[in-house]
Amino acid sequence: MATFLVTGGAGFIGSHLVETALAQGHRVLALDDLSSGSVYNLAAVRANPRFEFTPEAVESSRVLAELVDQADVIFHLAATVGVFNIIDSPVQTIENNIGGTEAVLKAAAKKKKKVLVASTSEVYGKSAATPFREDGDLTLGPTSKSRWSYAASKIVDEFLAQAYWKQHKVPTVTLRFFNTIGPRQTGRYGMVAPRFIKQALDGLNLTVYGTGRQSRCFTCVSDVVSWLLRLADDDRAVGGVFNLGNPEEVSITELARRVIAVTGAKVGIDYVPYEAVYEEGFEDMERRVPDISKIVALTGYSPQVNLDETLRLTRDWFVANAASQAVQAQTEAALVTR
Ligand code: UDP
Repeated sequence: MATFLVTGGAGFIGSHLVETALAQGHRVLALDDLSSGSVYNLAAVRANPRFEFTPEAVESSRVLAELVDQADVIFHLAATVGVFNIIDSPVQTIENNIGGTEAVLKAAAKKKKKVLVASTSEVYGKSAATPFREDGDLTLGPTSKSRWSYAASKIVDEFLAQAYWKQHKVPTVTLRFFNTIGPRQTGRYGMVAPRFIKQALDGLNLTVYGTGRQSRCFTCVSDVVSWLLRLADDDRAVGGVFNLGNPEEVSITELARRVIAVTGAKVGIDYVPYEAVYEEGFEDMERRVPDISKIVALTGYSPQVNLDETLRLTRDWFVANAASQAVQAQTEAALVTR
């Protein structure tokens, strides 16, 4: 049994990681300021005696050092995410994402604790070198476009993780997530899959931004968690950067069609210009496809859940949680901007 610290433990990926780690017999400490995570995500584990929750922000946590001291491995998932958040709150995005990672690495450095740092496929930016390899170039747009501040903040996090490993011998592993989706993900901050599912279940047309020809590779959260737990236990990963994604590529229009099929909704698709929802001159990524040969070779694990199955699981969760979601939506109404 190990003790894990999960920052962002009440978030979408974090709460699934917490749950699976507890089911495997580990002790889990979760730290989360509930800015985008929710206590609802922890409902199933709150009473577990091997689980402890601290509702604080990473960088201002009074107990971060204490939690890090208790942990064998730290999963640093806490971050400001979601394109709406990033465009509406670029200061918070940059400060939270860099400040949080800096605080965790500083604390981990004292006792050389292993840290798995969450990054994102967004760091590949406008690169056309698909499928993206971890050693490929990162091609961001100009600083005048807030969208790129998220990728830039995560690139700094990646450099910090590498620097702490090279200079201070803190064992770090950097993970680039490719559009992780599944039950508990909220569409409130922009993520397309839960937005489409909610629209379909509410009997509304699905809103595809841009042409809909842009593509993504959606990855089931359970596959991501399986990789995370394997990496926690594997010293060969230390110092490395890994793509975590399912290479099954779909256009956003195709995603909309799959959601309509999976929900059986009698709805259509509306195409909305980017400028109507994001900032003026918004730049999207056209294709985002991972090369996952590195993570598969290391862990021997490949994605097990395809897109349709992940959409079905997510639909079931939305249906089962419609009531608690309504309560949550009311409580958090002030946060809803779109
Ligand atoms: N998108 C969309 N409708 C929505 C939300 C997003 O068509 O309601 C598009 C978005 O413009 C992008 C893709 O879906 O091309 C994925 O968006 P998301 O914010 O989920 O992730 P990211 O852009 O970070 O990959």
